[in-house]
Amino acid sequence: MTNALPLSDAQSCVLQHCVMLGTEKIDLLQSLGRVLAQDVCSNRDHPPCDISAMDGFAVRAADLAHVPAQLTVVADIKAGDLPTLTVQAGQCVRIMTGAPIPQGVDTVIRVEDTQEGDAAAVQINVSAQKGKDIRRRAENLRTDEVVLTAGTEINPGALGILSMMKCAEVQVQRRPTVAILSSGDELEGLHDEFDLNKIPDANSYALMAQVQALGIQPTLLGIACDDPAALREKLQQGLQYDVLLVSGGTSVGVHDFVRPTLEELGVQMHFWRVQMRPGHPVAFGTAAQSKVFCLPGNPVASMVSFEQIVSPALRNMMGYTRLYRRTVQARLSQPLKHRAGNLEFVRVTLSRDADGYLATPTGSQSSGVLLSMARADALLIVPSESTALAAGEEVMVQLLDGTSFQN
Ligand code: AMP
Ligand code: MG
Repeated sequence: MTNALPLSDAQSCVLQHCVMLGTEKIDLLQSLGRVLAQDVCSNRDHPPCDISAMDGFAVRAADLAHVPAQLTVVADIKAGDLPTLTVQAGQCVRIMTGAPIPQGVDTVIRVEDTQEGDAAAVQINVSAQKGKDIRRRAENLRTDEVVLTAGTEINPGALGILSMMKCAEVQVQRRPTVAILSSGDELEGLHDEFDLNKIPDANSYALMAQVQALGIQPTLLGIACDDPAALREKLQQGLQYDVLLVSGGTSVGVHDFVRPTLEELGVQMHFWRVQMRPGHPVAFGTAAQSKVFCLPGNPVASMVSFEQIVSPALRNMMGYTRLYRRTVQARLSQPLKHRAGNLEFVRVTLSRDADGYLATPTGSQSSGVLLSMARADALLIVPSESTALAAGEEVMVQLLDGTSFQN
């Protein structure tokens, strides 16, 4: 346990322990982004019958062998009507989008291809293939067919489907409760008196935001001093949650009490270091009811290790099948120094040109420089075996929040 684990091993380890928590029934209106825990079958045919796809005239295609053709308009049908007539040869009906197709006709001609005479007559200017512009019964949804499977992430489209199935409540995977604790004597809380000799606690809030971005509202436990008794009390509180995130105090300094105190509280530690930068001193442990992640104190390291290790674990617990940030290929806009032997995550902005994405580092990459993260669109992955990277080199980047929109 003294050796640093490769990141992929650390990820496998947390996924093995951080599994789904069970399901709950929630209001459809609150279900966006949740993971469906049941298959959903269609309870109706949609559309319930053949309907018109256009505003126009429903005709018998056989009547259009010679165009223009003069037809007698025998009815006017709109969406919501239930027509009972049967249309005969030489006749047609005026029909609106979504209106049921009556008996006897087989084709819809859009209004733009017609010329209306008096109210009871129309000239059709084009011929058409039989069946044109008719939406068939059950073309959208068929009774008893599985339309959404368990494990589906409820996006706006899926939510719309659930509403069509009249699921006012939906069974979804439960979300974990998450507590966040910062540790360090030097830290100053958001509402503490301003003291220029202190370090403002950024990790509680940056981690809070990362957790919120996954759809979970975490509880902030505040700051624990570097004192075993104070730390013990806070950690005990944190172990009441499904997941506890502790930042700072996790290295090997003489005032780093997090690990021994967790062990005293019965937490079994699975790893203590991970081969990545920033974020080397990351630990993971499990207790009876709780999973504990110890993150580095340096704000960037805390955020990057959350992205690589905590976020996939939380998403796994919530039942998502996509656990990791999407990666895309980009070109490096400038050379990048790298010490071989470390998997590194460089904070970059992304722009686009005709050849694709261009990645530019966001300034100082020191793990204490939180602005490098604040400005970042993505994390550029420098493989551990890599030495220096040249300008123009192809690299992989992980997209961060906000990259699904562009100017
Ligand atoms: P540590 O991991 O406790 O050795 O802390 C490493 C560095 O991160 C130190 O410079 C700390 O002051 C800083 N640090 C630790 N916790 C926080 C925090 N919650 N917010 C901002 N900086 C922190
Ligand atoms: Mg500390």
